[in-house]
Amino acid sequence: MITEEIRNKLIAAAMEAKKWAYAPYSNYQVGAALFTHSGKIYDGVNVENAAYPATICAERVAVFKAVSEGEREFEAIAVVTTNGGSPCGSCRQVMSEFGRDMLVLIVNEDGEVIRETSVRDLLPQAFGPLDLP
Ligand SMILES: [Zn+2]
Repeated sequence: MITEEIRNKLIAAAMEAKKWAYAPYSNYQVGAALFTHSGKIYDGVNVENAAYPATICAERVAVFKAVSEGEREFEAIAVVTTNGGSPCGSCRQVMSEFGRDMLVLIVNEDGEVIRETSVRDLLPQAFGPLDLP
């Protein structure tokens, strides 16, 4: 559970980050902000590439930034797009590695929460660490 204050901070951080999205090909800017169990916020944007498959989404940038600084437990992520688009399958898989109960706030460019869900609901029966022998 996160407080109303953190929730608003997270949405504001994702909206702010979206400005830095590098999306010259899709023109679909995405900003994400991740709230860690330790109380920090890591943001991320989509970074596209002329070689399209080398592109990475905002959600994974935020998670990878946090993990690369030693974070492993996440409480919530806010994802801001123009129209409140939902995280892609790759991002759902990456988020599920670090907690299926993570709150996911899907937000449009006006800051309205279009959907409030969890990683578990976005990716039921996910492949995870326990599936490995
Ligand atoms: Zn994605």
